[in-house]
Amino acid sequence: MSDAWRNIDQFLTAHGVRYGPPLVSQTTGGKHKPNSLHYDGRARDYGVSNSDLPAVMLMLRPYAIGPDHIIEELFGLSLYIDSGKIFAPTKALYASHQDHVHVGLRAGRLLPIPEKVPMPADNPDLPNIEGPLSFHPIADDLGNVVGYYIFSVSTGELHAHPHPDHPGKVVYLSRSEDLTPD
Ligand SMILES: [Zn+2]
Repeated sequence: MSDAWRNIDQFLTAHGVRYGPPLVSQTTGGKHKPNSLHYDGRARDYGVSNSDLPAVMLMLRPYAIGPDHIIEELFGLSLYIDSGKIFAPTKALYASHQDHVHVGLRAGRLLPIPEKVPMPADNPDLPNIEGPLSFHPIADDLGNVVGYYIFSVSTGELHAHPHPDHPGKVVYLSRSEDLTPD
């Protein structure tokens, strides 16, 4: 059996969504319908008591909709999606998914986990940027922060991380540095 369900936890963690620790009954064990994705290690249930279910739904829904869906089953509360399409649940399915959200991954697919922005080492030879500062996160199409700009209003320095030409590094894009700061 796979443990692909862990990918869903990792995805939610990376996006700061609150959820409770996985119980066996919410992953590969417990009682589920015959041929449930749970028995293949691809499904995870999130309980209403300790998980932010609206946030779980909001974050996962884009990956469940459409022909290239990564999530095969997303059931719970008022939203039911199977194989890329929203459907009207039976009364039984609806009733059994008011206290938890069920997430099942499509075979062979995983949700993209955004990489953390590496913290650059401090270079003591570089003068420290002086305040007042303004800080500008750089986000990708999915809303993941992938870098930042810091601009010094007082000295005109602009620091960027990462620099488009120097991945993983902080560089000065332009500057007029005060080499003898007060
Ligand atoms: Zn389930």
